[in-house]
Amino acid sequence: MDIPRIFTISESAHRIHNPFTPKKLATLGAALRLAPGTRILDLGSGSGEMLCTWARDYGVVGTGVDLSPLFTEQARLRAAELGVADRVRFLHGDAAGFVSDERVGVAACVGATWIGGGYAGTIELLSRSLAPGGIMLIGEPYWLRLPPTEELARKCEAQTISDFLVLPELLASFRRLGCDVVEMVLADQDGWDRYEAAKWLTMRRWLDANPHDDFAPEVRAQLDTEPERHATFTREWLGWGVFALMLRE
Ligand code: SAH
Repeated sequence: MDIPRIFTISESAHRIHNPFTPKKLATLGAALRLAPGTRILDLGSGSGEMLCTWARDYGVVGTGVDLSPLFTEQARLRAAELGVADRVRFLHGDAAGFVSDERVGVAACVGATWIGGGYAGTIELLSRSLAPGGIMLIGEPYWLRLPPTEELARKCEAQTISDFLVLPELLASFRRLGCDVVEMVLADQDGWDRYEAAKWLTMRRWLDANPHDDFAPEVRAQLDTEPERHATFTREWLGWGVFALMLRE
C-alpha cells in the first residue's frame, strides 16, 4: 500500500506536508490549550510533525495512521529524534474507516480529508473516535475568492470549483454539519511557498541523482511547470486552514 510516487519524491524532504509553517503548527497546538496527556488520533499523519512536536511541547500522546511507508518511517525517526517515541506511535495503513480503540481528546485529519470522502465524511469518521467534549481538527483548502472559471479551479488542483468553498461558507458548512467552530488557524502565502516551493529543490536534486529513472520525465515536467503554476494560481486563489470543531449536542 502506498501513495502515488510523485508525492514520495517531491515531498520526501518535507516535515510538514501542508501550507503550515512550524510556527503555525505550534500556534495551533497552543490555541487548543491541550492538557498534558491528551490523547490524539491523526489520520493521514504524514511525517508526523504535528504529533511529535505537540508531544514534545504540550505533553500529548497519540497515534498517527498514514498510507505512505516512507512518511510513516520518517515520522518514527522524528519521534525518536525529539525523544517522544514512548508517547506517539505511527501505523502504516489506509486510514479510511479507521476508528481508535480508545476514545481521544483530539481527532485530526489535516490535509487528507479524501480519507473520509471529503470533510463531511471525515468529520463523521473522526467523531467515532472522539471522547465526549473532544475536538476535531480538519485541515482543508478554501477559495480566497471564487474562481471565475472551472479551468482556473483545475489549475489550483481542484477537480471543480465546488470542491472548495470560500471561508465563510466553509465555516457555515461545519455549523450545518452540527459542529461548533471553536478555533481556526489559517495558512498564509509564505506557508504556501514553504509547502510548494520546497518541492522544487527536492525534485531538482532527485532528477540530478536519478536521471535515467522511468519516472524522471514526469518529475522534469513538474519542475518545468510548477513554479509558474503555483505563483499564478494556488498562491493567489487558495487559502488553507485548520479548523477546530466540537460537536454540538
Ligand atoms: N497531515 C500531514 C500529511 C498531509 S499530506 C501533514 O499535515 O503533514 C496527506 C497525507 O495523507 C500523506 O501523508 C499521505 O500519505 C496520506 N494519505 C493519503 N491517502 C491516505 C489514506 N487513504 N490513508 C491514510 N493516509 C493517507
